[in-house]
Amino acid sequence: MKKITIAIDGHSSCGKSTMAKDLAREIGYIYIDSGAMYRCCTLFCMEQGLINADGSIQTDELERRMPEIHVSFQLNPETGRPDAYLNGENVEKRIRTMEVSSHVSPVAALPFVRAAMTAQQQEMGSKGGIVMDGRDIGTAVFPNAELKIFVTASDEIRAQRRYDELVAKGEEANFDDVLANLRERDRIDSTRAVAPLRQAPDALVLDNSHLTIPEQKQWLIDRFKERI
Ligand code: C5P
Repeated sequence: MKKITIAIDGHSSCGKSTMAKDLAREIGYIYIDSGAMYRCCTLFCMEQGLINADGSIQTDELERRMPEIHVSFQLNPETGRPDAYLNGENVEKRIRTMEVSSHVSPVAALPFVRAAMTAQQQEMGSKGGIVMDGRDIGTAVFPNAELKIFVTASDEIRAQRRYDELVAKGEEANFDDVLANLRERDRIDSTRAVAPLRQAPDALVLDNSHLTIPEQKQWLIDRFKERI
C-alpha cells in the first residue's frame, strides 16, 4: 500500500507531538518533530553567544554559521521515540527548557533559518510514510500532504499541560510564565512574514480541549483509515 504524508499543525503545546508520535508508531511511519529542529537552531544560538542580553539575535553571524547546524533524529530504545541530535550530540532534554522556548519563535521567524529547515524536512519526507508536526507543515513544507490536521485547544488548557510536563521533568516552572510564553509564541508564529502558522484550507480541525489522549489517538487513526 502506498505510504502517504501526514501533516499535523497547530498552536503551541496543544498535544500535536503526542498524537503524531502515537500515530506514527501505530502505523509504522517515521515521525519528525519539526519544532525540535527550530529548538536545536535556538540552542546553537544560545551556546554560541548569538543571542544578546536583550534577547535580540545576531542574525548576520547566525546566517553565516547556518551550515554548521546539523539536526538529526535517532530512536531512543528506552522511550521508543526519536531524540533530537544537534551536531551528533543528544540534546533532547536541553531543547525543551523554558529558556529555549522563550527564544525559539524569533529564531524560527528568520527566513534563512526557515529555508534551511524546510529543505531538510522536505528531504526527510521525500519518500512519504511520514508524520510531521509543526506550524507550517501542511501549508509550506508539504502542501500536497494527503492528510492534514490542524490541532488547537484553549490557551489555559494548553498552558496547564505544558506546566505539568515541565514539573514532571523536575524543571522549575511558573504557570503564568508558561501561559505568557505560549501566547507570545503563537503571536510571533502567526504574524511572521514567512510561512506563518495558518490552518491549511484542506486541513481537518481538531479541538482537543476536552479529549483524553486515547480519544485523540483514536480520532486520528480513524481519519488516517478514511484517507487511505
Ligand atoms: O512544536 P514546538 O513548540 O516544539 O516548536 C517550537 C517553536 O518552533 C514554535 O513556537 C515555532 O516558533 C517554531 N516552529 C516553526 N515551524 C514549525 C515548527 C515549529 O516555526 N514547523
